[in-house]
Amino acid sequence: MSTKLSTGKPAPVCEAGVSYYGISYPEHAERDFLEMKSHHCNAVILALSEFDIDFWFPNIIEVTRVAKKHGLRVYLDTWGIGKWFGGEPPSKFLTDHAQCRQVSAFTGEPLPAACFVSTAFREYFNGICEKLARYVEADGFFWDEPHYALPKNMASITGGAGEDWACRCSCCQEKFKARYGMEMPKLLTPEVVNFREDEALDVLREASRRIKAIRPESEITCCVHATLNTYYVTERRGYDNWEKVASSPEFDVFSTTIIAWNLPKSFFDDITRRTVEVAKKYGKRSQRWMMGYYKQPDDLEEIVRTAKLYRSMGVDSLFTWTYRGGKGTVLAAPDADGVWEAVGRANHQFLTMKMEEDKK
Ligand SMILES: [Zn+2]
Repeated sequence: MSTKLSTGKPAPVCEAGVSYYGISYPEHAERDFLEMKSHHCNAVILALSEFDIDFWFPNIIEVTRVAKKHGLRVYLDTWGIGKWFGGEPPSKFLTDHAQCRQVSAFTGEPLPAACFVSTAFREYFNGICEKLARYVEADGFFWDEPHYALPKNMASITGGAGEDWACRCSCCQEKFKARYGMEMPKLLTPEVVNFREDEALDVLREASRRIKAIRPESEITCCVHATLNTYYVTERRGYDNWEKVASSPEFDVFSTTIIAWNLPKSFFDDITRRTVEVAKKYGKRSQRWMMGYYKQPDDLEEIVRTAKLYRSMGVDSLFTWTYRGGKGTVLAAPDADGVWEAVGRANHQFLTMKMEEDKK
């Protein structure tokens, strides 16, 4: 079921999948995986918090085996780790290393996020990735909305984000000084912007290399925020330069995050076009996400139409957060069952379009 790209690397089939929280019991997960398959999923992202990886590790291995047995591609999401990746789970690292926090450039206050530039965090994160790569027979990893902490401050008059930023901790200051031969400014000079972007990518690229050294066939997806980063608004998450992210040789899939359903269709068009363009430019697969939790579209058919839009624009991988519309969590969609049903039809639409294209 795989085709060869010109690079000789096997390319997976067109994908449709959801994220999944239930990693505790393989026999329960098995029923859920069958339900996913009945909703036309051929892939699943396991959302793994630091606690899960620490505590449920034996069953993460088993749950992955069960998903694979049923023909799902499995990706491991380092969900919310260090509060560097997106997600709700608390961080064990932050509990154990109160001194390794990101620091606001303007106020010097510590922020509730780990400084991923610090040696302590990098060692911790690499350790997690190597452990997962060594023992869990997954198809790849999913870098889920990595970002610098955004200090809360006044929005600018143009409606953009405020001026404060992170991280200006002692470790970042030292590294900056070693590279540029001057004190790290408190303003976002071009050097600071570059330094932040380089450091943010470097930690993910290193982890990706370590994973591939252990499990070479691992596919690495880097999923960045779907922001416009225009003249007026750049959100300074550290992964705003899509060219820089997508050109990283360690990543196989370039992905952009969920867009709120109430944003105009032109926004969906624009983000999707740019996602596919930059992925293609660097020989990567492209991935787009849909919101299948929390806020749902007024008309659930919009979910199917969006899947259709994505495929018509050349998206290779469609994912929805999350299984069953988040039912049973505080972030459930109001009509979680209805959303989940529509996601099933959206997946079917997406995969069918690809099959029809292949026949031509
Ligand atoms: Zn720092």
